[in-house]
Amino acid sequence: MLKGRHLVEPGDFSKEELEGLFSLAEKIEDDPAFLRECCRGKILATLFFEPSTRTRLSFEAAMLRLGGSNLGFAEPSSSSAAKGESLADTIRTVSCYADAIVMRNPKEGAALLASRFSAVPVINAGDGGHHHPTQTLTDLLTIKRVRGETANLTIGFCGDLKFGRTVHSLAKTLSRYPGIKMIFISPPELTLPDYIKEMLSTEKIPCQEAERLEEVIGDLDVLYMTRVQRERFFNEQDYIRLKDFYILTMEKMEKAKKDMIILHPLPRVNEIAEEVDNDKRAVYFKQAKYGMYVRMALLASLLGVV
Ligand code: ASP
Repeated sequence: MLKGRHLVEPGDFSKEELEGLFSLAEKIEDDPAFLRECCRGKILATLFFEPSTRTRLSFEAAMLRLGGSNLGFAEPSSSSAAKGESLADTIRTVSCYADAIVMRNPKEGAALLASRFSAVPVINAGDGGHHHPTQTLTDLLTIKRVRGETANLTIGFCGDLKFGRTVHSLAKTLSRYPGIKMIFISPPELTLPDYIKEMLSTEKIPCQEAERLEEVIGDLDVLYMTRVQRERFFNEQDYIRLKDFYILTMEKMEKAKKDMIILHPLPRVNEIAEEVDNDKRAVYFKQAKYGMYVRMALLASLLGVV
């Protein structure tokens, strides 16, 4: 039962609960009329202290498709945060108005703090460079729908693995599935944080690190490309030096398996050449759609209407 629960980090839901969400999302995709009015009268607050296109709009679209309504802000300058209000006070207030809260915040741990002050479920839509659990729901549903299963895969994470919160959440969640091997492809400055590496080693997940994508691309079933997270860098020069470290082109794709799939949480900046978009292995725009279905399933479950 997910009713009334918070989703702050990937470990908050059991594997069985995740599978339940995926089957619900699949039913929604197969029958768009299913659950159409189930959130009538319910209100979702979307509080975005950082930019977003897909996460915020897919949550809002999900709520509208379930028959509910949305309120909130897309940038903190239009909220009392700009006057110095604490996050705790904002959350105490918003939880008087809404039935659930989706929040993105630049501070790691902000979602956990919000969950402690909220009277309604809090969903973490990204807390700094830490976690982004609903992107993981999106990623796993995409893998399941396109490849048929989320087990027995070699997955390559490529790009900014240090600040990329979607990588941290997905690696942590995939460590619970059997037969997963992970290859982490990054420049030495942008390798995975130690706490994720330690978790993977405790779980005895087969892992490998690489610097060159060309050397490992042929081994992968899933390639998870990421953007270099400019907003987390202290120094613009470092960002400029690293931003084009990886650019996936059709030439590199020639070395990849015929059934490998490419995921990207988006936005893409320069790390995937546009020529790759036409390759059937590129599923990142489909992924954005699965994000809406799985968020519909999540909202319906947390609000206790299914
Ligand atoms: N949209 C994802 C996130 O919010 C990925 C990114 O921004 O690069 O983490």
